Amino acid sequence: MRIIFGALLFVFAIIFEALGFSLASLILYLVSLVITGGKVFCDAVRGILRRDFLDEKFLMSVASVGAMVVGEYSEGVAVMLFFLVGETFERIAVRRSRRSIKALMDFCPDEATLITDEGEERVDAEDVQVGSLIMIRPGERVPIDSVITEGEAEIDTSSLTGESVPVAVGVGDSICSGVVVIGGLVKAKTLKVAGDSSAQRILELVENASENKSKEESFITAFSRFYTPTVVIFALLLAIVPWVVGLMDIATSSYRALIFLVVSCPCALVISVPMAFFGGIGGAASKGILFKGGYAFSKLCSADTICFDKTGTLTTGEFSVSSFNTYGVSKEELFRLCAGCEYASNHPIAKSLRRFSEDAIIPESAYEIPGEGTVSTIEGVTVAVGNLKLMHRLGINTDSYPSSHVYVSKEGKIIGTIDITDEIKSTANDAVRRLRSVGVRRVAVLSGDKEQGVKRVASSVGVSEIYFGLTPEDKYDKLLQMKNESAGGVMFVGDGINDAPSLAASDVGIAMGGVGQDSAIEAADLVLMTDELDKIPVAVKIASKTITVAKENIVFAIGTKLLVMILSAFGLANMWLAVFADVGVAVIAILNSMRVLSYSRRTRK
Ligand code: ADP
Ligand code: MG
Repeated sequence: MRIIFGALLFVFAIIFEALGFSLASLILYLVSLVITGGKVFCDAVRGILRRDFLDEKFLMSVASVGAMVVGEYSEGVAVMLFFLVGETFERIAVRRSRRSIKALMDFCPDEATLITDEGEERVDAEDVQVGSLIMIRPGERVPIDSVITEGEAEIDTSSLTGESVPVAVGVGDSICSGVVVIGGLVKAKTLKVAGDSSAQRILELVENASENKSKEESFITAFSRFYTPTVVIFALLLAIVPWVVGLMDIATSSYRALIFLVVSCPCALVISVPMAFFGGIGGAASKGILFKGGYAFSKLCSADTICFDKTGTLTTGEFSVSSFNTYGVSKEELFRLCAGCEYASNHPIAKSLRRFSEDAIIPESAYEIPGEGTVSTIEGVTVAVGNLKLMHRLGINTDSYPSSHVYVSKEGKIIGTIDITDEIKSTANDAVRRLRSVGVRRVAVLSGDKEQGVKRVASSVGVSEIYFGLTPEDKYDKLLQMKNESAGGVMFVGDGINDAPSLAASDVGIAMGGVGQDSAIEAADLVLMTDELDKIPVAVKIASKTITVAKENIVFAIGTKLLVMILSAFGLANMWLAVFADVGVAVIAILNSMRVLSYSRRTRK
């Protein structure tokens, strides 16, 4: 509306001026100026009062008022009119990207595990009433502010406070939504209704977390900080020096200085570069690829090494039992204890084992050892479910039992061994092949599983470099070593608590959003909402398109502006050229940035 009215009045003013009605045209110019530029002037004044007045609004206001004062009315209004056009473009573009992120968020609402008389139930966090009892498994994010009523654990508050040292909590302690529970299973009473959903958090993160800025964006911020004061000083010199030394009158020199100011306005960059990233983030989001900020883009493009976790990452994480043995208990009892013991864990193996028994009960206490298994107290007896490492940790002799994937012990004695298998994701093979084609040279699998299982999966997805039997610390150490050996950076793809340290330490951490545990999602830079691995090469392509466009804009805008600035200093440019070099360049750069969004939406492979 403001653009239309402002532009109409502007056109009439020009016509009146041409016809010689100077007073009428002056009034029309002034009204048009107030309509188009009123808000910018106010913001500029407010900026001055806040003492940070060297932004683009200040530059534009000075240029516009200056042009009016030296009698170049049409140019004074044009500056504001086109600035408004540029701003409107920006707003439309940002709104489009926001919408695509929001749309994606709507299909993955926050959930909570409600404890009812019948057992447990997964519900939307928003439907949980104050005072309800909820359960939080290790590795899960607390969905609602609550107070612990049962259980002990540690909490990782790094998503809220940035402090990464875990804090021990127990009965009576309150836990805020957003923190991640590690170690133990806790039951808690909710104190509030669900507030900020993780969708909202990610959206905010994407929009304004200044520490998540990409290299290119930070360059622009740093650039304008020293740039704007420099051009203001230079413009002042340009207005004063030629006049003082008698080269020209003050009106001519001021006019040149004003042109110089208009051209120099950095808004083309300030707007278009973050917008390219926003377009990349928004477009990726519409494909189920969630970036937590622009900072991951350049590392994603340059990375030459990728490490995959196995279970839940290369494989679906949905296990079936291939064989089992029982020792002194019935089959039903084995799986009942097994499911009960695994109650606390969100590991894919635990989730699968829970499905094999209908009448499992909630254990009295439970804790999880990442990469090994779980230990629980059920009906007063200690039950452990996990791999060989866990059994050795508990001092249980396994020599006389067949080597298996999962051992079950009761009161320190093996009562069963279970062999399980899960399927390799259909997208894994293709993803590895396409990653190689976008510049990844080294592909490795880092797994906590046994050699045999890792070999089977790795060879079928075409990876020869494998590391097995790794504890979470081993994975982390291996990753650091590979980081040292890599020139361009290392991506790590994982799904579990055991992967969280590696996800955080890698150059680009990629987590599974579906099967992945909250702690992994929290630690990652990039989340694949659908768990499909072929989204990784797509993400790389989107990132490299984004970076290319951002660089194009930087070169194009700075180049054009420099040229017109030089011309204006020598009196070879008028205000119209200056307005083009500013607004025209901004609009072209913005349109260029908008290509990123449509490109990312189109890209399939
Ligand atoms: P990966 O690195 O392949 O994703 P993890 O590190 O998550 O595997 O787990 C390594 C091994 O630890 C698993 O193969 C399994 O034997 C054992 N394990 C971990 N958590 C559990 C659990 N909750 N129940 C049973 N076994 C577990
Ligand atoms: Mg895993």
